Amino acid sequence: MKLFENKRSTYINRYITLSQVVFFLLIGILLFRVTHISFETVFLKLNIIFLFMLGLAMIPLIQTLNIKFPNYEIICDFFIISVYIIVSIMFLIKEQGELSKIVLLMPVIIMALKYGVSMAYLAAGFSTVSLFVVGVFSGFNSADFDIMYIGIFLLLAWLLGNMTETEHNIRKELERLATHDGLTDIYNHRSFQNILDLELEKAKNENNKVSLILLDIDYFKFYNDAYGHQEGDKVLQKLAQLLTDTVGNKGYCARYGGEEFAVILPGFNINEAKEVGEQIREVFESYKFPGTNVFPDGKLTASIGVAEYPLNADTKEKLIKKTDEALYRAKFVSKNRVESYYSVFDELSLFLKEDEKELFNSISAFTMVINAKDSYTYGHSLRVMELAKNLSLRMDLNNDLIQEISFGALLHDIGKIEISREILNKPNKLNSLEWDIFRQHPIWGAEIIAPLKSLKGVKEIILYHHENYDGTGYPEGISGNNIPIGAKILRIVDSYDAMTTDRPYKVAFSLDQALEELDRYSGSHYDPYILAEFKIMMRELQMVGIK
Ligand code: GH3
Ligand code: MG
Ligand code: MG
Repeated sequence: MKLFENKRSTYINRYITLSQVVFFLLIGILLFRVTHISFETVFLKLNIIFLFMLGLAMIPLIQTLNIKFPNYEIICDFFIISVYIIVSIMFLIKEQGELSKIVLLMPVIIMALKYGVSMAYLAAGFSTVSLFVVGVFSGFNSADFDIMYIGIFLLLAWLLGNMTETEHNIRKELERLATHDGLTDIYNHRSFQNILDLELEKAKNENNKVSLILLDIDYFKFYNDAYGHQEGDKVLQKLAQLLTDTVGNKGYCARYGGEEFAVILPGFNINEAKEVGEQIREVFESYKFPGTNVFPDGKLTASIGVAEYPLNADTKEKLIKKTDEALYRAKFVSKNRVESYYSVFDELSLFLKEDEKELFNSISAFTMVINAKDSYTYGHSLRVMELAKNLSLRMDLNNDLIQEISFGALLHDIGKIEISREILNKPNKLNSLEWDIFRQHPIWGAEIIAPLKSLKGVKEIILYHHENYDGTGYPEGISGNNIPIGAKILRIVDSYDAMTTDRPYKVAFSLDQALEELDRYSGSHYDPYILAEFKIMMRELQMVGIK
């Protein structure tokens, strides 16, 4: 990642660039001297100037080849140094002064500062060869001086080159400490933010996509509680390794927070990213960590959320938020699951007329309020929606009805907005007054969405979702086929989810216990035909390991 390279070029390369300017000036001066002193013919002068210009022209030319030619800078520098050396040799042959040989130090200094010790030795080799060539022309009459110069070349190459390399290594190490997570050695949160900024900027300019994956380990507290944080840390290290191995060079992996990881996938659309998420989920699930018997399913799993820029969000903050919402949905629908971002509210608003959309937005906001009042309701609504939708699909209902049932399931508790926090979260049985209030929530829910004429069917489902098959339910006590089919479906899946979820005052039923309990009220509370279908569906889900 070129994340911090830019900073490097601004701070350190500034000095190198400056010394290169001096270097060019020096070539210019030497060239001037050489062309005046040694060459009488215009032809030769032009040749030298041409060579010099060619050297300069190579820089932008090679820079444009950057991508295919990663070492362009070194090659470019050696080309320029070769030109410099040739000019210097011509200068020294004509000048004949021992002190003038000092110009041969310049390549050593430049290469040592820029690339470190080995390149500096190479440059020292160039300068030594130059001394030899000049010596040939002068009959080696100053070999003692030349040997001294060679010693200085080597000493400078060694000293400056090593200093440069030490500085480079220390900077790399500091960069690593600043950009990588100490425990897992993948990018830390700050780098995650920086990389996402850069990738989104790039995607914006190139009209491209970026997908984001957020993942949170399921029930990780259990592991820490059972084996201590140090063992938990080892698992996190292994998870980070599995994550980077799975993602490979497709994207960037980061530790987002405690036991949460993030993957940035430049150029990936949401479906491709979801596939990567699925691979990660499978790798985590199938790796044999020690001591996984503390997890409810006997294995370590992760819940994963995915969202795409620009499809779901047009800024970094929104992209993270939407991915987080998808993750939240994965957690609450069933854990060990990958969910891509999709807003049921966005989808529902497609069914509305223009003038109804504003009111609908307020209703959507209600669900957030209910969520804050009763933390159980939000995940509950999503799970119920999922189950109700699947059951309706199995029952071959028409598409419009399936939509109505899904949305009815999502919004069925909206009337609870009118009920106080104390009643909603009361651990003991409600008294008769409180119970009377509680029983009103289907009516209030129906009233809330009544102004949305396009959702008339949804209103009925909400109104009747506590009616019993035998007419003993509320609010109206209707029975049998007078109850809309959506309300009857919702009655079952709503009860099932309430039974299988931990509440402050009650431990969750297992699937078997819940189905047994539902069976006990078949024909009285629940429509027997729909219940039978629901049971088959749940058994199938159990067989494929989803429930
Ligand atoms: P959930 O399925 O809802 O995600 O349950 P959870 O227990 O994983 O809950 P949550 O996502 O809130 O996880 C937070 C826990 O992760 C708290 C802490 O025990 C653990 N954790 C966070 N950071 C670290 C860490 O650096 N090392 C260790 N060992 N555990 C950590
Ligand atoms: Mg967490
Ligand atoms: Mg967790």
